[in-house]
Amino acid sequence: MVAGAGIGGLACAQGLVQRGLDVQVVERDADLAMTGGYKLHLGVPAVSALRKLLPATSFEALLGSSVGTPGFSLTVRDHRGRRLLQAREASPGLSLDVDRITLRQILALGLDDRMIMGRSCQGWRVEGETFVAELDDGTEVEADVLVIADGAGSKLAGQLAGRPTSFQCGLTGVADAPCGAVSRTAQLLFYAGGLCSRSVPAAPAYSPRHTIPPDVQQAMQHIHLPVPRPRWQSGG
Ligand SMILES: Cc1cc2nc3c(=O)[nH]c(=O)nc-3n(C[C@H](O)[C@H](O)[C@H](O)COP(=O)(O)OP(=O)(O)OC[C@H]3O[C@@H](n4cnc5c(N)ncnc54)[C@H](O)[C@@H]3O)c2cc1C
Repeated sequence: MVAGAGIGGLACAQGLVQRGLDVQVVERDADLAMTGGYKLHLGVPAVSALRKLLPATSFEALLGSSVGTPGFSLTVRDHRGRRLLQAREASPGLSLDVDRITLRQILALGLDDRMIMGRSCQGWRVEGETFVAELDDGTEVEADVLVIADGAGSKLAGQLAGRPTSFQCGLTGVADAPCGAVSRTAQLLFYAGGLCSRSVPAAPAYSPRHTIPPDVQQAMQHIHLPVPRPRWQSGG
């Protein structure tokens, strides 16, 4: 059983089905289009893994629903917006940009009768050689193997570890094309969050739930962002 029909859970389920295993996927969302709609960059290793995991028709559907990209860059900033690192990926091979909901729908192709949608897995226990997954409607699913794929902040992995397995680190990541199409100003605007996010070119971020600490919020009120004046004001 796979708990969580996100990117990892669905890709895993497809790979298991391809190898003849009986799989059931439990997903909290009632509909695959419910969670998020940001662009995902699939790097060369991700594309090559999906080529192996998906049926040929699904992989074709992925190619037909995405665009090829020259690579990817990620800038990580600390809680004050200072740049800590910039990673660039420009490996030879196929990398793709795809809408997340579209990707999820493609990953779910052919799994319909194996999906239990709109059910949250609240916990699990082991009985002898069997995993028993406890769902929020009181039902239980038995499995030989439980794949925990409920994402960042996983409740189920937390049960295994006996503590939370992730925490807010106060860092912000801004994804970009390798040539740096998203300017520093745009990145800072993005960092300012809801205040300015509409002014920023479409750029996915890695920490949408990141909360800006109060001292940074206060300091940001005094940041002068050199926003270009509109043409009609500068006479251009
Ligand atoms: C804004 C943003 C942009 C990103 N951009 C990129 C990118 O460009 N390239 C890239 O490679 N990665 C990117 N990532 C990271 C990527 O989205 C994650 O690495 C990937 O989604 C992780 O897959 P996952 O299956 O572990 O978790 P998720 O995809 O988050 O899926 C978890 C699933 O579990 C479900 N779930 C949660 N709790 C339960 C429960 N108790 N019971 C049942 N179901 C549950 C959720 O509804 C969800 O569908 C981005 C992330 C974000 C937030």
